Amino acid sequence: MMRFFEARFQRKLIGTYLLLVLAIVSVAGLYVFFSLESVSVERLKAHLQAQARLMGNEVEPALGAPDSGRLQALARRLGQQVGARVTIIRPDGRVLADSELTFDQITRTDNHSNRPELRTAIAQGVGSALRRSDTLGVEMLYVAIPLGRGEGIAGILRIAMPVSDLSRAMAFSRRTLVIGGLMALAAAAVLGWFFARKVTRPIAEMTAVARRMADGDFSRKISALSSDEIGQLGRALNLMAQRLEDRLAELEEARAKEAAILDSMVEGVLAVDGECRISFINASACRLFNASSVGAEGRPFLEVIRNKEIFELLDRTLRKGAFAAQEFQVYAPVQRTVQVHAVPLKGREGASGAILVLHDVTELRRLETVRTEFVANVSHELRTPLTSIKGYLETLLEGGLEDREHARPFLEVIHKHTERLGRLLDDLLDLSNLELGKITLHRRAISLAEVVEGAIAIYRPQAARQEVELHALIPADLSPVLADRDRLAQILINLLDNGIKFTPKGGQVTVTARRVPSSKFQVPGVEATTEAAQPGTRNPEPGTPKSPELVEISVKDTGIGIPSQDLPRITERFYRVEKARSREMGGTGLGLAIVKHLVKAHGGELIIESQLNQGTTVRFLLPVAGHHEPYR
Ligand code: ADP
Repeated sequence: MMRFFEARFQRKLIGTYLLLVLAIVSVAGLYVFFSLESVSVERLKAHLQAQARLMGNEVEPALGAPDSGRLQALARRLGQQVGARVTIIRPDGRVLADSELTFDQITRTDNHSNRPELRTAIAQGVGSALRRSDTLGVEMLYVAIPLGRGEGIAGILRIAMPVSDLSRAMAFSRRTLVIGGLMALAAAAVLGWFFARKVTRPIAEMTAVARRMADGDFSRKISALSSDEIGQLGRALNLMAQRLEDRLAELEEARAKEAAILDSMVEGVLAVDGECRISFINASACRLFNASSVGAEGRPFLEVIRNKEIFELLDRTLRKGAFAAQEFQVYAPVQRTVQVHAVPLKGREGASGAILVLHDVTELRRLETVRTEFVANVSHELRTPLTSIKGYLETLLEGGLEDREHARPFLEVIHKHTERLGRLLDDLLDLSNLELGKITLHRRAISLAEVVEGAIAIYRPQAARQEVELHALIPADLSPVLADRDRLAQILINLLDNGIKFTPKGGQVTVTARRVPSSKFQVPGVEATTEAAQPGTRNPEPGTPKSPELVEISVKDTGIGIPSQDLPRITERFYRVEKARSREMGGTGLGLAIVKHLVKAHGGELIIESQLNQGTTVRFLLPVAGHHEPYR
């Protein structure tokens, strides 16, 4: 296509050029031809005139004697001498002699007085005419001069030459002119072709480069630039390409930056056009709706995000062009609460799209629920003992105090509830401090056996009362562990308390400890340098850095166990399998929550396994103390 245009432009140029040359050559040729012709005629005329004058000297004396035979002989001789027709005519027009005619013919020729050359010769002294000879029937140039001196015109001498000679010469020069013209045209065509090519080539190159630019390819520049206007145009085009390229690169960079920012945002961001087609969606929004970002752009909103409610909000925003916000439940892939802010995008003619900003408020809402539930739980936990205390105190005040025998058990119950209240408040405070990170652990190398023994000693009387056996199976050679002694004791006391509480008569509660290779255990504040922790490496291969040794502590009972459906929530605050029973046993429902936090503060994880009516095992890991840890 481009070649065609190029060729067309080139053809046009050459065509115009050739037409111009043709016009010039034709005009010049015609001019030259005609002026040459008239010059030749004039020269021939002058030549004939000179001849006539010369002959006049010879003819004039012969005119006196009326010997037509002599005159005729003279005319013939003269005619032969100059190669022209010589006619001698009387002033009245009668032909006296003619070099080309016989005597007979002369007598028969008509009177010549009306011949134009004769009339001009008589009137002006010389006459000429270019005309067809009536006598010979060919085109002739006639020149006539009057003869005779002094006493009027004695005769007229006329010399004539056929112009066919002249025409031949003219035809020759015409041919030369035509050939010359054609050669000039051919030369013009060749030159024109070169010239047109020279002009069109840079234009064609520029067109090609401009086309590439339109397709976004700026790699090709216009080369071989001349200093003329076309060269300047090329330079301007190159400069424009450079500027455009730079500008596009800047834009691309800015776009990439924006996309990176939007993609790294926690909030989901999504933009739609006026027809509710997605024009942008960031990674967070894709995650929220379990949608794929690949190919999402340009597709209708509902095809990518199958949520009719959000679509309606979007539709409203687009129609009204006003900001809107609402909270929605999104069910795939998991149930989430999403707060959606829809902002209309104003184009030149009204709304041209909208932006949705999506906040995942699931955790926020969950925490709000947890908080309200917690307040309700705390109030409830506090009210129960308080109601009892109030009831007993009222009974005592209303006369029960006088009944000494019954007053004491009442006071004992009041005392028990007060203690429970105290425990509850202590546990709450502990838990709150743990959650706020206000508790600092004083980790030391401590003997686990000692701490376990201490905890068991506290519970021995209670276990004996409940006829539950208490055992500690701690290997004698167990290395000291790295832990906060008091907090470790608190963990063990809580677990032993639960074990004994939920184990019926004749059962057993056993505390065991064993060394295990490292796992995902992480000890806050302890650098794993020489013995780096290798997550997931249970059996380190020879040559790999050795992980810190760990001690697994487990408290196992043969009690009532925990139903499997309660297991996942058992460490939540106030969560109990049987609320009434737990309370009856003096439990606050906060024990396991505290234990979980304490274990976590030590960098470990609490694992609870349980089989209903078989027993429960609670396990956690502690690191073995390094050599540099102080021993207590
Ligand atoms: P509580 O003060 O009620 O013991 P915890 O947080 O220590 O509070 O325990 C929460 C609940 O977990 C208990 O009420 C009980 O239902 C269940 N539980 C805890 N330990 C055991 C266990 N060893 N055997 C059976 N159930 C247990």
